Amino acid sequence: NDFDLVKFSEEIAEEMQVMAKQNQNIIYQHTGTKSTVNLDEKLLKNCINNLITNAIKYSGENTFIDFTTEINQHHCIITVKDNGIGIPEADQKHLFEAFFRAHNTGTIPGTGLGLNIVTRYAGLMNGIVDFKSVINQGTLFTISFPLS
Ligand code: ATP
Ligand code: MG
Repeated sequence: NDFDLVKFSEEIAEEMQVMAKQNQNIIYQHTGTKSTVNLDEKLLKNCINNLITNAIKYSGENTFIDFTTEINQHHCIITVKDNGIGIPEADQKHLFEAFFRAHNTGTIPGTGLGLNIVTRYAGLMNGIVDFKSVINQGTLFTISFPLS
């Protein structure tokens, strides 16, 4: 069943903004002529919440968190980008393993399960999770869902 991804995402952005640190601004933008999509809303919401929670946690005050959605002919693409601590290159290949935490998290709390859940839930919708990260610069997560 189709739902309005833009309205859904605007609501998530608003909810997550409440959880953000001082002057962390969550900016949401959609690209595409179409705004409805057929995905599992609960699974998708859990994925996005996990990614934005990480962006908040692993970046500092006075920064932007960019959250985007795109619907094109063949895919629905979700991205969450921060300007935070980044992920050390040597840790990147382990990132989706359960209980794995990168070596630069310091005293930031976490169990290392969020991203493992994101990959599982995205996978249930045939989605692929990917990321690009540069230490001390930031991280971009992408989930790409094929549309039939
Ligand atoms: P939780 O289970 O509460 O989500 P967590 O945040 O530690 O705990 P994951 O969300 O699975 O676990 O993330 C795994 C690890 O990946 C984190 O511990 C952190 O080292 C790294 N990480 C994830 N997202 C980011 C990000 N946006 N910026 C920097 N590091 C990140
Ligand atoms: Mg997490």
